[in-house]
Amino acid sequence: MLEKVLIANRGEIALRVLRACKELGISTVAVHSAVDRDLMHVKLADESVCIGPNSPTDSYLNIPAIISSAEVTDTVGIHPGYGFLSENADFAEQVEKSGFTFIGPRPETIRLMGDKVSAIRAMQQAGVPTVPGSNGPITEDNQRTLAVAREIGYPVIIKAAAGGGGRGMQVVNSEAALLNAIHVTQSEAKAAFGDPTVYLEKFLDRPRHIEVQVLADGQGNAIHLGDRDCSLQRRHQKVLEEAPATMIDEEARQGVFKACINACIEIGYRGAGTFEFLYQDGQFYFIEMNTRVQVEHPVSEMITGVDIVKEQLRIASGLPLSFTQDEITFRGHAIECRINAEDPQKFTPSPGTVQHFHAPGGNGVRVDSHLYSGYKVPPYYDSLVAKVICWGINRDNAMDRMSNALEEMVVEGIKTNIPLHRRLVRDLGIRRVEYTIHYLEKLLKA
Ligand code: ADP
Repeated sequence: MLEKVLIANRGEIALRVLRACKELGISTVAVHSAVDRDLMHVKLADESVCIGPNSPTDSYLNIPAIISSAEVTDTVGIHPGYGFLSENADFAEQVEKSGFTFIGPRPETIRLMGDKVSAIRAMQQAGVPTVPGSNGPITEDNQRTLAVAREIGYPVIIKAAAGGGGRGMQVVNSEAALLNAIHVTQSEAKAAFGDPTVYLEKFLDRPRHIEVQVLADGQGNAIHLGDRDCSLQRRHQKVLEEAPATMIDEEARQGVFKACINACIEIGYRGAGTFEFLYQDGQFYFIEMNTRVQVEHPVSEMITGVDIVKEQLRIASGLPLSFTQDEITFRGHAIECRINAEDPQKFTPSPGTVQHFHAPGGNGVRVDSHLYSGYKVPPYYDSLVAKVICWGINRDNAMDRMSNALEEMVVEGIKTNIPLHRRLVRDLGIRRVEYTIHYLEKLLKA
């Protein structure tokens, strides 16, 4: 097992990783920005290093500062969490070149999956179903582009190959608007991601977002931990997630699980990963792979009993997977609400001092949060401050528990989206699974 791990992240995920390390007897190093010295995991870590000023560019994205912190603390492995440098192939490469273990896939895999065009190609080769599209980047040849779009059929969606976080996408409804929209998206993609490459996909009008969690040890073993439904999104950002996904065609589902495992073996995947799909009319369509632990991983943990972060640490230590597929059993249902420090109506960030924090509890309730009474939420980072995860013997039971948990939860001093979640878990359309990825935005407009 890795003796010492540096956690190159902050907030709830840094605390999540720290807890997994402690359970495995791994020493921990917390690196943090100036304002973050009061973070819960910094207080609990064996060692801590301030890596720079508050701006993410100067701290959590500062590769030289992170590597030198690993050097001075005699770190063995580096866990990137999610966001920040977690899907940066250059970072993974520098970590390994500097003699440390990157807790994640090989840099080549991150690079392959980080470019959506190459990711889609790799998936097609492995037999994973993809969205009908341009099957490659849009070229200078306008006549060809128009023909490709006509073939796919409108509406189409233009997507940046290097896109992420719900940015670099545009829907086009008619041929007249296509070429101009491509130009605009290319310039935006160049500015935001440093790569102007875009491709076309059929725009699915009423899909659900269903994803598959996998674990692979890079030694020829790969398993899946089932699926998750993350359809409830605002501005392409997930708000509420659950596992398993309900009302899915069982044959299509088993087929997609198999294809994901096959893809892991074929690309020599190592670590935890997620295959994201759109699901419509009984069909799955691959959209992208995330080569890291995801925010919503706890719902899969709750229904399988597998600790995904501990598995990441074991795999990075060179150990084989602790489970075979046959040993994975699915039990009950789990839901996660992402609690953000934001205005529940206007969605503007709401940083500030948490005067009072009370976490909900009881049977089947899990809270992953770095909050405590007196903690000051800084304005420089993502607004996620807590995840409430509820397990139940079935979906209704999990929803009812979530409703109770949200009633019990107290966060005073800052605004949060708890009122929105209270509404969602009681919403009839959500209770009946009568939603698509557009449902939440429509609900908010109404
Ligand atoms: P990102 O990497 O930015 O998260 P994704 O490719 O995962 O981008 O897409 C994010 C979201 O955008 C999806 O969950 C879905 O809501 C929407 N989306 C992406 N592709 C399509 C498509 N072909 N049709 C309809 N919606 C799409």
